[in-house]
Amino acid sequence: MAQATIRSEDTNVFPRFLDLAYPSIERGKGVWLETSGGERILDACSGGAMVACLGHGVAEIADAAAAQAEQIAYFYNHHFTSQPQEQLADRVIELIPEMARVKFASGGSEANETAVRLARTYHVDRGQPDRWRIISPAQAYHGSTLGTLALSGRRRSLQDPYAEYMPAYLHIPPSTPRFDPTGEAALEALDQALKEVGPDTVSAFFCEPVSAAALPGYSPPDRFWHGLAERREKHGFVICFDEIVTGMGRAGTWLAAHQLPIEPDIVTIGKGLGAGYTPLAAILCREHIYDALAEGSAEFDLGHTWDGAPLPCAVGLAVLDYIVRNKLVDRVRERGPRLLEQLRDGLRDSRIVGEVRGRGFLLGVELVDPRDGKSFLPHGLDVASQVDDTAFELGLLVSSTNSTQDGFAGDEVLLAPAFTSTDAELDEMIERFKATIEAVEKAVEKKL
Ligand code: PLP
Repeated sequence: MAQATIRSEDTNVFPRFLDLAYPSIERGKGVWLETSGGERILDACSGGAMVACLGHGVAEIADAAAAQAEQIAYFYNHHFTSQPQEQLADRVIELIPEMARVKFASGGSEANETAVRLARTYHVDRGQPDRWRIISPAQAYHGSTLGTLALSGRRRSLQDPYAEYMPAYLHIPPSTPRFDPTGEAALEALDQALKEVGPDTVSAFFCEPVSAAALPGYSPPDRFWHGLAERREKHGFVICFDEIVTGMGRAGTWLAAHQLPIEPDIVTIGKGLGAGYTPLAAILCREHIYDALAEGSAEFDLGHTWDGAPLPCAVGLAVLDYIVRNKLVDRVRERGPRLLEQLRDGLRDSRIVGEVRGRGFLLGVELVDPRDGKSFLPHGLDVASQVDDTAFELGLLVSSTNSTQDGFAGDEVLLAPAFTSTDAELDEMIERFKATIEAVEKAVEKKL
């Protein structure tokens, strides 16, 4: 039998934690992962990164990949286009009709960097070359390339020791219920930032409309979105939404933006578009963005090798067909509120659980210090890792973050099950998670 756990001294792979033994996953079916030793893990996080929204091992997606690979897998889209790329763009625009054009990329960081360049090119082509700055809320995640890392506003938990490479973007505090429940403080900070640098130097406001791992399930109050739209109107910057996680149905609508009182100019989508069967992401923009380039330089250069290649686009088409045919976005929208209620009920008596929030199948649990029921837990305890490890021992995959050092969020846990999870599987996820939190709570209380 193959080894179920690979130790660092037995591998040539460069892992995330150099001293950790990693379980080796051999197969997956639906929401179950199976190690090479035969242990089964219930996947409450769509492969761990909110990707595998159809579950694992869907044969028709694998078949679509094989058929396209046999026909033609790859060519560079600087030279040609293909039916899969054209059709996938058409389908995306049918579902998200307020957007006019689609550009494909391989992953979220690439798509977000492209969005930053697209916003900049829009302004340059309209004769406003001084607009380059980006303003974004802190406590976000937009990717791990140097450009996207700079957007996150998480100096201590993410950017160090690479901060010297970061472009000088501006950050405002997130308007979370803990610090700014009305959104007014964030708007004031936005006004201050615009004043400080001069609004005519600002290219874009960049944010997650509903946050993923950094503040799972959180979205600013409506007042913030209204205020942001007013400032766009007044100052002429564009709004980019990072929907790498929330796009394609995770929040219960095709875009999370569809639930908010604001329309972004540029949106990035990813994860669920390829559903874990191919690396795939996309940048969508509204007509006025595209027109500015069409009437300006008529060029948007600098892409990535796999942008719009036939293989990933054919897989994306099969994924989209599957989501539509099985009405999975409806399922997420209808089942999400009850899932949130179940999670809240299950955690009601926990002393280390603060806020439990969510939209659709994107759920977040804020952990707090049980001594007062509201402060962040001591950073050094790294309770986030304890949650992930304990869940794993109980046969459950969830994903937690700890960015206490940055001051805007403490330990947060994310659950993002596949859209195809059955009711029984969702119940089992809640049960295992409840048991996880109970065990972590006991262990934490002993250490405080
Ligand atoms: N944006 C968000 C909201 C994400 O959660 C992620 C990844 O988790 C990214 C961007 C980066 O995507 P990728 O890892 O595919 O570059």
